[in-house]
Amino acid sequence: MATYKEFHQYSIEKPNEFWTEQAQLVDWKEPFTQVCDYSRPPFAKWFVGGKTNLCHNAVDRHAAKRPNDRALIFISTETDEEKVYSFAELQREIERMAAIYLSLGVKKGDRVLIYMPMIAQATFAILAATRIGAIHSVVFGGFASGSLATRIDDAKPVLIVSSDAGMRGGKAVPYKHLLDEAIELAEHKPAKVLMVDRGLDKEFNKVAGRDVDYATLREQFLDAQVPCEWLESSEPSYILYTSGTTGKPKGVQRDTGGYAVALASSMKHIYCGGEGETFFSTSDIGWVVGHSYIIYGPLIAGMATVMYEGTPLRPDAGIWWQIVEKYKVSVMFSAPTAARVLKKQDPAFMHKYDLSSLKHVFMAGEPLDQPTHEWFMTELQKPVIDNYWQTETGWPMLAALPGVEKTPIKYGSPSFPVYGYNLQIFREDGSVCDANEKGIAAVIPPLPPGCLSTVWGQDDRFVSTYFTLFKEPLVYSSYDWAIKDDDGYFTILGRTDDVINVAGHRLGTREIEEAIQNHPAIAEVAVVGVEDKLKGQVPMAFAVVKDASKVATPELVKALEKEVFGTVDGILGAIGRPARVHFVTGLPKTRSGKMLRRSLQALAEGRDPGDLTTIDDPSTLEQIKNALAS
Ligand code: ATP
Ligand code: MG
Repeated sequence: MATYKEFHQYSIEKPNEFWTEQAQLVDWKEPFTQVCDYSRPPFAKWFVGGKTNLCHNAVDRHAAKRPNDRALIFISTETDEEKVYSFAELQREIERMAAIYLSLGVKKGDRVLIYMPMIAQATFAILAATRIGAIHSVVFGGFASGSLATRIDDAKPVLIVSSDAGMRGGKAVPYKHLLDEAIELAEHKPAKVLMVDRGLDKEFNKVAGRDVDYATLREQFLDAQVPCEWLESSEPSYILYTSGTTGKPKGVQRDTGGYAVALASSMKHIYCGGEGETFFSTSDIGWVVGHSYIIYGPLIAGMATVMYEGTPLRPDAGIWWQIVEKYKVSVMFSAPTAARVLKKQDPAFMHKYDLSSLKHVFMAGEPLDQPTHEWFMTELQKPVIDNYWQTETGWPMLAALPGVEKTPIKYGSPSFPVYGYNLQIFREDGSVCDANEKGIAAVIPPLPPGCLSTVWGQDDRFVSTYFTLFKEPLVYSSYDWAIKDDDGYFTILGRTDDVINVAGHRLGTREIEEAIQNHPAIAEVAVVGVEDKLKGQVPMAFAVVKDASKVATPELVKALEKEVFGTVDGILGAIGRPARVHFVTGLPKTRSGKMLRRSLQALAEGRDPGDLTTIDDPSTLEQIKNALAS
């Protein structure tokens, strides 16, 4: 067995051999003739000439061998539904959905936009698209009409699949009227809207000639058999827009064969999940984690996957662990935001359940701060593995590889570059940083299989957004600030936009946030750099306390702020000390749980907070404004 280092080295030095071996993990209708065509840098085509299908690899091939094994476990604690689909049942439902698509005129290469809550039909809708070679574009169900309209105009779908409503925290969240508004706003008009009526919003509007009912059509196609369309490896499978943390979202275009291979290989080497086991990702199908690790990855590996509609706290804070026990979940995937929510709860909720099936918990999406990482791993007594990646890459760039070598976990670090990625930390002049020197994380192309092929319809934007960090060397960068220690462990310090320059010292927001997290009263914190005449920039902190009584009076606020200064001084020195710590009850985040630091910074500097279409709770901004004014 290779060490993770040897494995990585082999993937970089002998990519053809390496990826040919990984490609055996998926079924090919026709074999590929070339592993990688990199004749037009930075565009890379993987497994040229090979023909395959994502739905076949995720469903049909398992249904053929293990028809009665669990494939999809749909759980809604919102509507009290629970339904398990075997691989055979899942395939049947996908074929029915695919038959509906065909009857509505959807052809190979057409776009199908999916704007749905976390229900089983969303999985059918996604896999039915890839089954017939249509390109899906899933838009997160929480987005309002404006964000949805932009995505409709960009993807130009012939069909939109939607639902009357989703449910969150016990309340129905209507979808259909937002969709109607979005179509009204958009220039592009879809020919058909396929509605999955959950009976949650009795009053939703039905547009004659355009809107059709899923349940009625399904009845007509109960026995439908729709074969998989074999696609050339580079043909697109889907479009997915980035989270929009830093501004206008980009339409990431994914291929077919490269993605299938990358996911299959990640399931083996990173996530360590296989046939007969269960994967539970707490993400949403609207995000990349939902695409790769609710739908495709686990199913390609022959695992059952949990699709959960609900919050981590209802009916109580034990719900996730109850699911783990009931379905013998072996792999979990969540986000630091959720871990920080659980950290505020009584750990007894976790300890009540039998978690013996669980092998690993993976976390991604945002920096996992050291105190939260340590807390989670100590409470769970399981390896909690941070992994760093992006919508663009589709699968991890930095992670530990327990399927290759069980390396020790360092709190606060997503460990090492993943095989296939020649990832380094660079200085601003394009040279490579030494150990313990901060710089920009970037990948020397070609990007490995699974990563974006281009920005949908905008090849020039693909090049200008991601490949223009330096004149020389050519690198792929999404502008994250990072550092590597003497043992080769990486830490992401924040986005390069968020680096704070205090009197010539450069600090990642992450470093200061992490220092503040060490104060026991703090539940969550965001730090931004604010313009300062004397020092260039000074850090400013916005913190949420675990117990509101700690900041009930101005005197208590002053005292706690002073204590927090002391904590930062002790860890980073006075250089990292924020000018102020403002206490608030919530922080502005995107709907995927990422801190909107650029908006915080704008407000702190008295500017307009900018594009807020992806914000989760706009009232948090009011609080920030009030805190700044006080
Ligand atoms: P946009 O690109 O539209 O501004 P976004 O970058 O938030 O949005 P995503 O692709 O969802 O969209 O997020 C990827 C980014 O999230 C990474 O570039 C990085 O900044 C951050 N990130 C993801 N995982 C980690 C992690 N494990 N540790 C630290 N940061 C992470
Ligand atoms: Mg990004």
